[in-house]
Amino acid sequence: MAMSTILLTVLLGLFLGVKSEYIAYNTSAKIVPGKINVHLVPHSHDDVGWLKTVDQYYVGANNSIRGACVQNVLDSLIAALLEDENRKFIYVETAFFQRWWRQQSPKVKGKVKDLVNSGQLEFINGGMCMHDEATPHYIDMIDQTTLGHLFIKDEFGQTPRVGWQIDPFGHSAVQAYLLGAEIQLQGLCTLTINNTILKTEGNCTEKHQNPPSNVDSDLSVIPCPAVQLSI
Ligand SMILES: [Zn+2]
Repeated sequence: MAMSTILLTVLLGLFLGVKSEYIAYNTSAKIVPGKINVHLVPHSHDDVGWLKTVDQYYVGANNSIRGACVQNVLDSLIAALLEDENRKFIYVETAFFQRWWRQQSPKVKGKVKDLVNSGQLEFINGGMCMHDEATPHYIDMIDQTTLGHLFIKDEFGQTPRVGWQIDPFGHSAVQAYLLGAEIQLQGLCTLTINNTILKTEGNCTEKHQNPPSNVDSDLSVIPCPAVQLSI
């Protein structure tokens, strides 16, 4: 293809955009050696209680402790998606979404259902929160995930396709088996991974393969490179 044709195609693509639709995940892509591989995923990470209470996070109280107001995130997120059908977003914490959802008018709910059906808005993980994997009992992990999935199924008729465990402090076999294989997720995204595994797999960048000097190299969990976006 002539260079001018390629350029025209790229410019047309930028100008016209790509219409969002609900698509099957293509998980066959591999990392291209020798290049910087970038995969941008606009997603939520709204802690369902951490430095503040769940209520404080939702309404934006006590922002001197932590600047966070989840209802504003959801309000602005939905408005941004409705403005441009090329935008996509994945939302994770069902506890917050359910609370917001119950405060919306039938008109807004109808628009949000359209966003979900078109694939612009997708629920992933789907539990009431993104639970930790070290301290909770496995029954609690199953129960809270089930509760969130039931809400999504009841309201939107969908089942989350991907696990999104980007902030537990370490990962467990229970999560990978019960909450991965058994509920048939197509993938599981993690952020904190044992340094030994990182060194074995060698998938992360050079600088992240060396643990911080103040932690034990065999027991530490360190972050993979990641970019978190918020609206
Ligand atoms: Zn967190």
